[in-house]
Amino acid sequence: MGEKLPFVTKDQLEHAAATWPTPFHVYSERLIRERARALVAAFSWNPGFTEYFAVKATPNPTIVSILAEEGCGCDCATATELAIASACGVRGGRIMLSSNDTPDEDYRRARELGAIINLDSLDMVDCLARALGGELPPMVCLRVNPGGDFTASNGIIGEPADSKFGMTVGQALEAARRLSGMGVAEFGLHAFLASNAQAEDYYPRLSRMLFGLAVRLWRELGARVRLVDLSGGIGVDYRPEDVPVDIAAVGAGVRGAYEEVLVPAGLGDVALAAELGRWMLAPAGGLVTRVIHEKVTYRDYLGVDACASNLMRPAVYGAYHHITVMGREAEPATRRYNVVGRLCENSDQFARDRMLPEAHVGDLLFIHDAGAHGHSMGYNYNGTLRSAELLLREDGSFELIRRAETPGDYFATLDFPGSRFSALARPEG
Ligand SMILES: *Cc1c(COP(=O)(O)O)cnc(C)c1O
Repeated sequence: MGEKLPFVTKDQLEHAAATWPTPFHVYSERLIRERARALVAAFSWNPGFTEYFAVKATPNPTIVSILAEEGCGCDCATATELAIASACGVRGGRIMLSSNDTPDEDYRRARELGAIINLDSLDMVDCLARALGGELPPMVCLRVNPGGDFTASNGIIGEPADSKFGMTVGQALEAARRLSGMGVAEFGLHAFLASNAQAEDYYPRLSRMLFGLAVRLWRELGARVRLVDLSGGIGVDYRPEDVPVDIAAVGAGVRGAYEEVLVPAGLGDVALAAELGRWMLAPAGGLVTRVIHEKVTYRDYLGVDACASNLMRPAVYGAYHHITVMGREAEPATRRYNVVGRLCENSDQFARDRMLPEAHVGDLLFIHDAGAHGHSMGYNYNGTLRSAELLLREDGSFELIRRAETPGDYFATLDFPGSRFSALARPEG
């Protein structure tokens, strides 16, 4: 089995747990910065390159601020996410609004912040004009969905024709034509065609498609593309046998396409963007939970104090998340366990038939790669409460960056004028 070790030690976690009881998410500041720097370095050949971190992956302002210090902007889909970007001092063209089914209000909020607005459909041209009272921004981005299957070197990795996102190539040309008529002079192109892509040629192939379309917009409409946004979708090595994507190779592959397609067409000044969430943050975070029950029936169960409310990917997608029994890293994986949470749903299992070292009540488990689409997808089913988030700083200390929910938080929405149950929201009352 390949090595997949936590970025913290058992002693460090026990020390943190003495102050902030399990379960909690922990993020490594060192890894966040390292990954941001590796991405920026991979695209340093493109002077305009920006990573717009997909805020939905890890909407914690402390983390967004660390990324902002590393030069990243924010990719937002809602007014709430725009508020996070704004609170972190991310403004103007460093914010991207990439959403579908967008309410007018969110367009207005994005425009107030100076964000780049990415249109998901042709009807949004008129919606945007209406929402902004006819005052369109100088640049508008168009989200493209070429249909069919999307293929990389390791086969079909996405099915754009089955995706609700984006407009057809024909619609994108039509949108550019209409927007040009409304005074928009510059365009961005965006596409997101595969999720958790392990293939190093995903971005290169995607960029070749978008670069080709940029050339068409220029030649057929005289519409100038200034930005090509390759969006998210680069995968991580969730399983020990997965090979991590070489981000430098990805950057070099995109450069090849850029020099072959854009430069000869006279479009060698196009800025590139990414909106990575998972690649940026997943490996930089883990869910830390303690074994609180052992049960043997038809399988061996370890019951832990976290549940799908803290990390729902295994329950919803059957996703694999590697698990380390802290302090037993060197012991052989001789036992076959199901690691389960407390929700009244059989899907609430972090692992099934997983070979692990022998573990008992009191052991700490580190659930890997939970830094993206982990805490953020949390929910309150069964009245369970979302856990705290901690940052392991570069100096080795821990910082609480979001406290755990309390019953008062859960009941807060019952506290309104005329409610008969306001008292639930005020536990002391
Ligand atoms: C979810 C999302 C992302 C991030 O995707 P990852 O798979 O986490 O990289 C980026 N852009 C948009 C528009 C998204 O919806």
